[in-house]
Formats: sequence, C-alpha cells, structure tokens
Amino acid sequence: MLNSESLNNILENKVISRQDIIEIYQNAIKDSSELFSVAQNLRKKFKKDSVTFSKKAFLNIVNLCKDTCSYCTYKAEPGEEKLSLMSKQQIFELLQLAKKYRCVEALFVTGERPEQKYQEARDWLKENGFKSTAEYLIHASELALELGLFPHTNAGNLNFEEMRELKKTNVSMGIMLENISERLTKKGMPHYLAASKRPKARLEVLKNSGKLGIPMTTGILIGIGETVEELIDSIFAIKQLHQKYGNIQEVILQNFQPKPDTMMKNVPSVDENYFKIIVALSRIIMPEMNIQIPPNLSPKSYQSFLSVGINDWGGISPLTPDFVNPEFSWPKIDKVDENSKNAGFELKCRFPIYPEFFSFVSKELREKISVIENEEGLVKEEYWR
Ligand code: SF4
Repeated sequence: MLNSESLNNILENKVISRQDIIEIYQNAIKDSSELFSVAQNLRKKFKKDSVTFSKKAFLNIVNLCKDTCSYCTYKAEPGEEKLSLMSKQQIFELLQLAKKYRCVEALFVTGERPEQKYQEARDWLKENGFKSTAEYLIHASELALELGLFPHTNAGNLNFEEMRELKKTNVSMGIMLENISERLTKKGMPHYLAASKRPKARLEVLKNSGKLGIPMTTGILIGIGETVEELIDSIFAIKQLHQKYGNIQEVILQNFQPKPDTMMKNVPSVDENYFKIIVALSRIIMPEMNIQIPPNLSPKSYQSFLSVGINDWGGISPLTPDFVNPEFSWPKIDKVDENSKNAGFELKCRFPIYPEFFSFVSKELREKISVIENEEGLVKEEYWR
C-alpha cells in the first residue's frame, strides 16, 4: 500500500485526472520514490524485461527549413558547411551502405517545406526531377524499400495526400508534438517564428495520421520554457489522440540540450531528476504506451531511465550522426546492450514499427517485414547483431 491515494488508484487501474497528476508531481518533487516505483511496476507489467531500439541510418535529405525554432541547430542556411541537399545518387549510396551495416530503418528527415522559402531548395528539387520535397521523399522511400530497408519519414507538417502516398512505403512516420501550449508560439518564445509548430497545426497532422491509420511516433520536448502543467497537458493530448485513433505507437521524451549556435544557447539543460519525474508521469498517464528517451542526450545515465518507466531507446545508428543533436553521438550498440543488461533488461532490435501495429500496414509491407522477423515480431538476432 502506497501513501499516495492517486498512485494506489493507478495500480488498481482506476481513471486518474489531470489534477491527480499535478498532485502526484508536487509530491514527487519532494520525494519521487513512490512515483518511480509505480512507473517501474507498470513498465514491467506491460513491457516485461526487455528494452528495444531501432538500428537505423539517418538520411538528412534537406536541412533548409522555412521555420525557425530558437533551440534548433539542425536547420541550415545556404552556404553553411552543414547544409545538406542530398542528390538521388547520394541517397542511393547511403542506403546501400546502410544495408551493408544491416540497418533496419531508413530515417528520412527534412526541414519544414524548404521549397516555400529557398530558391536553392527549388533548384535542388528540379535538378533531381521532383516538384516538392514530399515527392522526393516518396521516391527515396521506394528506393529504401527496394534495398531492404524500412522507411520512417519525419518531414514536418505533411498534408493528408502526402501522408497517404508515403503510407504505401513507410511502415511508420513521425512528428513531434513538442508541446500543446500556444504560449510557446508567442513573441519571445521558442516557436514564435515556427508556424508549423503551432499546436493546432501539429494536432492536425497527428489527426490525419490517425484517419489514415499510420503508426505514428510523436513526443514532447522538455525544458524549452514550458510549465509542468503544459507538459502534463501535452501528455494528455497525446493520450487523447491515441484513445481516438489508436495509432500512436510511441512517445519520445526528449530533454532539451542547449546548442551553441542557437538563440537558446544560454538556457540550461533540463535537471535529470525533473526529467525522470516527467518520464514516470508519462508512464502512469499512458501505462501501455511505448516510451522512449534518446540515450545520447543522457550519455552518462541513460540506463537509469529504465527504472522510471521507459522501454525504448529509439533509433541508434552505427553509421550516421544524429544531425538534430550533432554534438551528442549515439552510444555504440554493444555498449547500450551491456548497460541495459547491467540494469536488468535485455536489448532487442525492433522494426520502425512496433509489432502491435503490424495490422496497420499493407500486405506487401507486412511480407517484407516477415523476411527478418523473429517469433516476437522483432528483428532476428542474427540479422542485427
Ligand atoms: S526544429 Fe524543425 S521546424 Fe524548427 S527550425 Fe529546426 S528543422 Fe525547422
């Protein structure tokens, strides 16, 4: 029996309210042990003793972006050294290499509709024979699939038609909600110059993914000036979407890390215990959800998050950098394996789609998955190790 009535209610599967969660949070900042223990209990109940990851290659297709978020170091300007405008040949070669490394996922990332703002992006599309970034992504996804990799596209606010086309080749797609708060889009806030980050626009994309039956990865960014209530509301917003459409396959909890070349360079990174409390709250709000933290953003302590509710490390690449967080390289898969084992968990490789969502994809995609799938719906050990 726990001291907290709300936490006892969670263990008894009773519905808990936003107010209950706020009270649990207020108690946890004084002593987080009960919350962590309940989160761990739920994690073990629904996710057993394993922790998953996706062996991926990160294809930085184009990092020009029509928006500006105050924390972003991914976005490039024309002429910058980090500018990426991948040609068809470069994509082909990187996909071939990824297959050689036995990657499973081809992660396609772009800035937000670069062709709307930059002549360079329009020229690049023309040179490669496409009218839009989305059209280029459809081509790249087809190529990945032909080469035996599974595409997962994260290209900002794609529209319904674009997503419907990409669903033919992408086993899942991704878009971060970031936060449900309109306040973060106001003057002086991180999303002020990023129309695509308006909560309504993001929710629209997530709703469309639900209508289309696309297994979807979303998540929140923690530490960008939001209040804890806004974080809790964001987690509830994701929960509600999932209750309505059933297609949210995982929630990424990403801790903000300041980047030297950004407007938020002097904002401190998030306190680790606070971050753990948010992770644990996410688990108790969504007990059965796949919950992920990126191990490279907590390099010294990521394994300790296994005891507060997470069950996934997200994509880890043996081949390409994390272009979104270039100063944080991914740990070696062997090291993640060892650290997971030391914490009492078995590392397993998943597809960019979790097994419980296999029924969402076409027969053709399902057949391709089955080629390297084990009896748990995960990737065969002999393929990824
Ligand atoms: S976070 Fe995304 S939308 Fe914002 S500036 Fe960077 S690439 Fe553009």
